[in-house]
Amino acid sequence: MEPVTSVQPEQVVDFLVDLPHPEFLELLQRVFAKKVAYEESWNEGRFFLGIGERVLAAWENDEEIDEAKWGPWRVRAVAYVDRTQYDEGYPEQWGDRLFTQHGSCPTCGMGLSSYMKRAICPICGTQAGLT
Ligand SMILES: [Zn+2]
Repeated sequence: MEPVTSVQPEQVVDFLVDLPHPEFLELLQRVFAKKVAYEESWNEGRFFLGIGERVLAAWENDEEIDEAKWGPWRVRAVAYVDRTQYDEGYPEQWGDRLFTQHGSCPTCGMGLSSYMKRAICPICGTQAGLT
């Protein structure tokens, strides 16, 4: 492995931007497994990939859409693929490979999105079903 100092930050940014969503998620999953946000005897924090999302509150009436009609921002965590539920290689072949499967974690209640229906909450590690 080359020393990190030989890589320019802009190269890292370009590499990450060019990754398809599943590969981007998987790379960050590996990073977050090693990089602790904070961990003390009385609390712990974990990094996760999130999506800030808002939708038009009046999307049916296209002619009058403006900035004021956007709904509130919500945050969803991008869930990891539950690889115990799929044959090896199957998730990599899936459809549009975008984070269009949604649900929530049955344990911590976090809103989740991912590209597969069988997922793992990136915060508490619970299995979740997305639709
Ligand atoms: Zn959870």
